[in-house]
Amino acid sequence: MHIACTSAFLIAASLAAFAQTQKKLPTGSEELLIKGPRRSPDKHLLGWREYRSAHFVVDSNLSSFVVARLIQQLETTRALELRALVAEPVPLPGRVRVIAAGASLLGELAPDKYFIGSGKGCQLLNVTCWQLEQQRFDALAGLVNAVNFDPCGQDLFFAGNYFVSRLGEPTIVLPVAGLSVSPEVVAHQVAHHLASHLFLHPPPWLREGFAAFVETIAGETLDNPAPTGSHIQRGERTVVGAVGLAAPGFTAALCRDSVSAKELLRWQGEEAASRPGRYHGHSWLLYHWLWNHRSKKLSDFQSRLASGENAEAAWRQAFPEYNPDHPGALASLDAALDRHRSFGVVGRYYRLKDAAAETDSAYSEAALAPADVHLILIEAQVASQPSNGRARPWLLSELHDLILEEPLQPVALAWRAELGFDSPLDGLRKAVARFPGDWRAWLLLGQAVDAAAEKAAAFRMAVKLKPDSALALQSLALFLATHGEPAEALGYAKQALEVAPWDAQATAVLATIDAFIGECDEALETYQRALRLSFGAGRPEALAQVDRLCRR
Ligand SMILES: [Zn+2]
Repeated sequence: MHIACTSAFLIAASLAAFAQTQKKLPTGSEELLIKGPRRSPDKHLLGWREYRSAHFVVDSNLSSFVVARLIQQLETTRALELRALVAEPVPLPGRVRVIAAGASLLGELAPDKYFIGSGKGCQLLNVTCWQLEQQRFDALAGLVNAVNFDPCGQDLFFAGNYFVSRLGEPTIVLPVAGLSVSPEVVAHQVAHHLASHLFLHPPPWLREGFAAFVETIAGETLDNPAPTGSHIQRGERTVVGAVGLAAPGFTAALCRDSVSAKELLRWQGEEAASRPGRYHGHSWLLYHWLWNHRSKKLSDFQSRLASGENAEAAWRQAFPEYNPDHPGALASLDAALDRHRSFGVVGRYYRLKDAAAETDSAYSEAALAPADVHLILIEAQVASQPSNGRARPWLLSELHDLILEEPLQPVALAWRAELGFDSPLDGLRKAVARFPGDWRAWLLLGQAVDAAAEKAAAFRMAVKLKPDSALALQSLALFLATHGEPAEALGYAKQALEVAPWDAQATAVLATIDAFIGECDEALETYQRALRLSFGAGRPEALAQVDRLCRR
């Protein structure tokens, strides 16, 4: 099965080294930017640690044994999903940050809310709404499982989030209740990260439908009895660890609510609290149906997304019979989806031959500074509130508090300056002196400073400290290209795109470098791709150089 084995994806090469552990020097008596008393960090910012494994950086205040288990889940799930989704082993450079803490702290920062596919007492494969209703009725009557009369209900409702941070780091938010994280929730969020490599900017229905389709790889063992009135077993008696299972939790969500294909294709990614999991459930239904009944066209659609095509245009090309502009087209899709779910969603599923992937779950750990905890929580809060152009009045005061706690926190200094505050340059120069191992301080200094020598040195240091930062790599590449070193720049630009193939700015930098080395055909093609990936957010600035050098 090839969900999306595009050449752009398969050419990804491994990076030689991972980021070095950042070492924070203790703050002392050096001159500070803020005169007067420092602010003590709030209690919830204390006691956090940072755990670094092969592919994840987990920031957490949970017990270390809970985190150790989570790391094992993350690494194993990542390996299994990757092996299930691509034909050949593909090393994806870079680590994903995972913020894991109690639901009371992170619940508000986790807008991705959905029903998972299975749970204790909710393990019947290809179940129908009628059967689920019968189960509920029996349980209510005290015949079975009187403790929980709806085992495919609220118990399966979870929240999380996946976003890319200001400095380009993929980040998962995991609220944790109790001593463990649901394996399906972990699988769901890891699938979001893999989807950003496979489909770059999937539309919300594909993002959520794909994650649900994949997450069953980590679900409960499902029961697959012979059909009622028959003794003939179809397929395996029990199924576990497979992708694409029609798990009962999904069916239960579909039985509770509905949405039209027209609404689903236009969905912007937010769910109303009054109708939990509504769009998520139908996203899964659409993906599951397409995978089972339109697999070639789905592959075509996904390949188009992987090449940076706009999702709406790609849909019209891949599924002309369901072009939303044609009268009645989406009504026939609604009818097909309705048939698909009415008799118990049935479909193919698949698993790996050797499901027990050997993964390395080793990790190192270090204390995490309260100011860094404060920063990641602010970032998660921003990511949980789609801006839609709305101002965030709370943001400046949070950043100000953070700077009172740690006057040289480099990201906060640069962020505050972007919101109209003083230039961060003085503070960033002090920050690199105080925290010479902090790649963020060097990168932001490079961005803020004008003098070429200081800029070059700062970008080089940022790349040295964090060779898998797409932002550091592309910043150095653009600097070198525009300062007479386009040949050296090319390698850095390609590495940036291996880490973040979805990134319009990194794509624009590659186009610029092609223009500088005289490859105008490639430059103009990559230029168009950068424009598509920027989603109308304005032309990436670097592309002006392509216009100057290649459009005569
Ligand atoms: Zn999701």
